[in-house]
Amino acid sequence: MKQKGLLVVISGPAGTGKGTVVRELLKNNGAKLSVSATTRQPRTGEENGVHYHFLTREQFEKMIAEDGFLEYAEYCGNYYGSPKKQAEQWMSEGNDVILEIEVQGCRKIKDRNPDCVSIFIMPPSMEELEKRLRGRGTETEEVILKRLERAKEEMALSENYDYVIVNDTVAGCAAEIEAVLRAEKNQ
Ligand code: ADP
Ligand code: 5GP
Repeated sequence: MKQKGLLVVISGPAGTGKGTVVRELLKNNGAKLSVSATTRQPRTGEENGVHYHFLTREQFEKMIAEDGFLEYAEYCGNYYGSPKKQAEQWMSEGNDVILEIEVQGCRKIKDRNPDCVSIFIMPPSMEELEKRLRGRGTETEEVILKRLERAKEEMALSENYDYVIVNDTVAGCAAEIEAVLRAEKNQ
């Protein structure tokens, strides 16, 4: 029997570099990244089924009613959720599964899966966070301001996480996550 994979939750304020760091991590690590569902509009270059499953509110609410999510939450006016079926299958096959989700979702996962590993990615400073968020150039000014406001609330909750890692450099941050996963698996 293969050992069940770890459930790994990664959170951090918008623009801190979660997506970039996770992509770097997955170059060498065999973990699987869960593709979330969301009701937000796709950004330029985002593909349905690759970056997210883009759903209408009606479709999303149907999936909630069918108990199709490990967790879901509303963030800045849109629903986001982690589909249950794929993640459970991957874990039962012995794969570690990464959920890149916001703080409310993490709390729900922790309540139901106390064995999960939670990692909060911190920006080096608020100034650097704003610079990265603006530099990405994917959001309107209104959305940027909403997300920066939300960032402060999220960072205040970082103490609820098992690990807090500062994203100074992408390679350094990915290496620290890799070390955490190895330690958690006693390898
Ligand atoms: P998130 O997924 O947390 O919203 P992204 O991965 O989209 O953040 O990163 C936001 C922006 O910051 C991107 O333009 C990305 O290239 C940049 N970025 C990510 N990590 C770093 C880093 N360590 N140093 C400098 N820029 C970074
Ligand atoms: P974005 O719109 O920038 O892609 O994501 C906004 C926030 O939603 C990020 O903090 C991201 O981690 C979070 N998020 C993405 N997918 C999920 C999910 O399935 N569940 C929850 N709770 N949050 C998610």
